[in-house]
Amino acid sequence: MKPPAFAYHDPTSLEEALELLHRYGADAKVLAGGQSLMPLLNFRLSSPTALIDLNRIAALAYIRQDSEQLRIGAMTRQRTIEFSPLVHEHLPLLHEATTLIGHLPIRTRGTIGGSMSHADPAAEYPAVATALEAEFVLRNARSTRILRAEEFFVTYLTTALALDEVVIEVRFPLSPSTSGWAFAEFAQRHGDFALAGVAAVVDVHGERCQMARLATAGVGPTPLRLRAVEHLLEQDGLTEQSIEVASERAAELVDPSNDLHASADYRRHLVRVLTRRALRQAAARSRKTQS
Ligand SMILES: Cc1cc2nc3c(=O)[nH]c(=O)nc-3n(C[C@H](O)[C@H](O)[C@H](O)COP(=O)(O)OP(=O)(O)OC[C@H]3O[C@@H](n4cnc5c(N)ncnc54)[C@H](O)[C@@H]3O)c2cc1C
Repeated sequence: MKPPAFAYHDPTSLEEALELLHRYGADAKVLAGGQSLMPLLNFRLSSPTALIDLNRIAALAYIRQDSEQLRIGAMTRQRTIEFSPLVHEHLPLLHEATTLIGHLPIRTRGTIGGSMSHADPAAEYPAVATALEAEFVLRNARSTRILRAEEFFVTYLTTALALDEVVIEVRFPLSPSTSGWAFAEFAQRHGDFALAGVAAVVDVHGERCQMARLATAGVGPTPLRLRAVEHLLEQDGLTEQSIEVASERAAELVDPSNDLHASADYRRHLVRVLTRRALRQAAARSRKTQS
């Protein structure tokens, strides 16, 4: 199918794009990599009057480091993130998650801003942003505001973005150099959205767990931060025994629904297995940085 007719704008500055968005309001959609939006248009599940293409705004594509954060421009391609030495060094969880997204052509076009704004519950980036306590910088024609990941993701395919706002940047706190990470997921075929995923970062010293951050993908309307699991590990340390208890607790915390891809019980079982797998791998990587 072909999309319905729409006016097409390809501004070269953010200001121009925001003015257009202000003018069209609810009738416009911004176009990033088009990997989710174009299928929606072609199936006529979305019929905007105007498309505002962000692809010519070079100022929105960058990866920059400051003393405490890595700041990634919204139009940065997933493929650029996959091969960024800065991401590799400071946000290895984001690197690992990127390699799990779809296929090469999707990562070549897909952007971080598009993936976050689309907010598919099974997508990897929202889970990483939740686990790492990322911040989202949102702009409209008049002002800028910053939201935490847990404020940004509202429900299925829905974020806190207002109709006239765009994501311009995602800010990730740098992970401690002694931390280990893992993104464990299960998908039926390579490149499919995962049935369930668990993102984990831990900072382990001997059996002591100085810091644990975990979030899920694919088992609820938004990523779920597993705070009770984090507290447990930070209190009891990271041992084989505590990993077992943590995995059971993770499975209790999620509330997945049944759909045609998997039952709620199966997704809960996956959370148990993937939490165990992610914690073992993250702990091993953390210990390796100190050996
Ligand atoms: C076959 C296939 C497999 C895939 N597998 C995976 C997978 O395994 N994991 C995964 O995470 N993703 C997967 N994807 C989705 C892919 O990651 C998309 O690239 C992503 O969801 C959307 O990014 P985009 O840049 O293409 O955005 P677009 O498709 O251009 O936009 C998506 C939505 O976000 C809005 N938007 C875009 N940028 C902004 C912005 N800066 N500010 C505000 N709103 C914005 C658009 O208006 C639109 O509503 C898959 C896609 C396909 C087609």
